[in-house]
Amino acid sequence: MVGGDAAGMSAASQARRRRDAADLEIVAFERGHFTSYSACGIPYWVGGLVDDVDQLVSRDPATFREKFDVDVRLRHEVVGIDLDRREVLARDLDNGGREVRESFDQLVYAAGAVPVTPEWARTDAAGVFGVQTLDDGAALIDWLDGDPAPRNAVVVGGGYIGVEMAEAMIQRGLSVTLVERSPEPMSTVDPDMGALVREALCGLGLDVRSGVTVTGLETRDGRVSAVVTEDGTLPADIVVLGLGVRPNTALAAEAGLPIGPSGAIRVDLRMRVVDTPGVWAAGDCVESVHRVSGQPVFVPLGTHANKQGRVAGINIGGGYATFAGVVGTAVTKVCDLEVGRTGLREDEAAAAGFEFVAVRVESTNRAGYYPGAKPMTVKLIVERRSGRLLGAQIVGRSEAAKRIDVLAVALWNRMTVDEMAGLDLGYAPPYAPVWDPVLVAARKAIDAIR
Ligand SMILES: Cc1cc2nc3c(=O)[nH]c(=O)nc-3n(C[C@H](O)[C@H](O)[C@H](O)COP(=O)(O)OP(=O)(O)OC[C@H]3O[C@@H](n4cnc5c(N)ncnc54)[C@H](O)[C@@H]3O)c2cc1C
Repeated sequence: MVGGDAAGMSAASQARRRRDAADLEIVAFERGHFTSYSACGIPYWVGGLVDDVDQLVSRDPATFREKFDVDVRLRHEVVGIDLDRREVLARDLDNGGREVRESFDQLVYAAGAVPVTPEWARTDAAGVFGVQTLDDGAALIDWLDGDPAPRNAVVVGGGYIGVEMAEAMIQRGLSVTLVERSPEPMSTVDPDMGALVREALCGLGLDVRSGVTVTGLETRDGRVSAVVTEDGTLPADIVVLGLGVRPNTALAAEAGLPIGPSGAIRVDLRMRVVDTPGVWAAGDCVESVHRVSGQPVFVPLGTHANKQGRVAGINIGGGYATFAGVVGTAVTKVCDLEVGRTGLREDEAAAAGFEFVAVRVESTNRAGYYPGAKPMTVKLIVERRSGRLLGAQIVGRSEAAKRIDVLAVALWNRMTVDEMAGLDLGYAPPYAPVWDPVLVAARKAIDAIR
């Protein structure tokens, strides 16, 4: 295994369930300090909702060694893969980079993704953080707890990691500015829905600068002191980067593994690397098939990494499993604002060649009279001729975002809005208006396509 997190260790544990140690020796190289950890939990750890890093580790190296007979080599970075000699070359980072060679019959490449880091962010100045690994989270928390304690945070990038980190900083009592180059934050939803997110973020006490490009950093005494934008300079004693990720494929490409049009590794349904016998790949480094557009896409999410690793492990263990593809479902929250999305955005539907209509409805998460009823916007993107659902987005509060799952299931099963409008969804005043927002949106889409 190259990589000891979600994809790699899911593969390891599934393979072990089917083949015992006498039959299959498993060695896992992980360059960091942790195995099977939840990077997704970092914003909540930083924000103080999670007390201890151990809570973010679902299985530690000792558990893998003792219960799963996996030879976990922490702080070992794989630096070369020789497919002809069936061998990996790793460096032991805690022992001066000592070289270690290990042979393999089957290789699982699960090296994840790497954060996008523009030139201006490659600095030695203290106080600038990415949030990719638990080690990154620990370094950031040390800085927040340090002396002098930072007061002004600038988060660069308004995607889901950026907004989650902005919330964490607010919870720590910092004054937070979020800078986003696009006109609206949350580019995983259409700009009209992103505008709702921006308006809500401003109401949370966040200073949101959208449509603004960062050009550099200012430093003082080796520490970051400001973020320079095309629109002026923002004081900052901590800068958090949330500029997205790209697949970590450098090592794979060097070894000759095929890279697809999305920039990630090409795999088949069973997570075998295409045209590369005995080599598997899973997680944030591979591309997946989008079930709506039919195209290969790079969607780096933990939910896929776990499933793909599982599929690889079952197959390595002698079973049979396939990964069914993705529809791009994702949810996030910042303070009490929630955002959900599935399927294609308008620009993605157009790029895939669909003729479509888009409708938006305003509703509430509960019956309007029930205490705690909050506004909720649902948007549907629907193929014009067939009425098939192509995409959906939700912005709202109080468990609004998880309603996206109903729409994701409809989309997965290629349902039309006609079929959706009659769905038997649960109703009681504390949970929904009598006409659930999903049903109202489907009815509006039917009108629009007629
Ligand atoms: C802050 C944050 C919040 C997130 N929130 C969500 C969320 O809410 N929902 C969701 O679905 N997803 C979320 N994600 C994404 C999710 O964490 C990733 O999709 C998931 O971790 C991918 O798992 P992976 O095993 O493919 O890769 P990774 O988790 O990146 O693991 C790859 C591992 O490989 C190791 N490695 C890399 N190269 C080498 C090498 N050469 N040698 C040895 N080891 C190597 C790395 O150290 C790393 O531990 C979030 C991510 C972050 C950073």
